[in-house]
Amino acid sequence: MIKLENIHKKFGDLEVLKGIDIEVKQGEVVAIIGPSGTGKSTLLRCINFLEKADEGNIEIDDLKINVKNASNSDILKMRKSTAMVFQSFNLFKNKTVLQNITESLIVVKKIDIDEAKKTGMEVLKQVGLEDKWNNYPSTLSGGQQQRVAIGRAMALNPKVILFDEPTSALDPELVGEVLDLIKQLAKKHMTMMIVTHEMNFAREVADKIIFMTDGKICESGKPKELFRNPQKYETSKFLKRFR
Ligand code: ADP
Ligand code: MG
Repeated sequence: MIKLENIHKKFGDLEVLKGIDIEVKQGEVVAIIGPSGTGKSTLLRCINFLEKADEGNIEIDDLKINVKNASNSDILKMRKSTAMVFQSFNLFKNKTVLQNITESLIVVKKIDIDEAKKTGMEVLKQVGLEDKWNNYPSTLSGGQQQRVAIGRAMALNPKVILFDEPTSALDPELVGEVLDLIKQLAKKHMTMMIVTHEMNFAREVADKIIFMTDGKICESGKPKELFRNPQKYETSKFLKRFR
């Protein structure tokens, strides 16, 4: 489903990604963990071309792009097959909950307004916020706002959803409702890549854990094995922080 090969990214002289290879199968959940500043967000942003990697291949389904000679239409196709959920929700503040969801359906996917609204309401039902369709984001809790953002991603019917620390900005009591929603998506076999510091969640929901340090994959494996018996010193040092 997704194949990243040899992804490199520099910001000026700072080498942030030093050759990343990842494969994700259809319906798999991959959790990316690691200290801050190691390039986790940059990696997700390179996948949907919010940042352009300097080198490497990105493959999603039948679309294969060498980043160096990616055409604009390739980039657009890649963006349409991915959806991103951010730490800070990134909702449109001056649009209602429903409008937040329908906006890109109408503008990017060119779906007509009535159809978009219908999809929007269906998604709001799934995220448990049907009754908030006409609210503005500022009137919702952080957990509810993030569920709207996840609904917005779901509505686009992407091949993969990329989550960048979806619960890091939330008060502790609101983390659970967002993680529960992501678990529901995992049960429905949504393909997902999730950067997270929630180790228990990662252990429970992920098919594979990738531990990144310093722009590289230090270690990866099945959650049980990696958490129970890390092979690298850096991994066990990192995991100790969460004990
Ligand atoms: P993580 O998500 O693992 O915390 P990031 O991918 O956000 O790490 O950042 C990795 C490194 O790249 C950091 O040193 C950060 O300061 C730097 N960086 C990220 N985005 C930019 C940017 N747009 N311009 C310059 N440096 C950046
Ligand atoms: Mg980050």
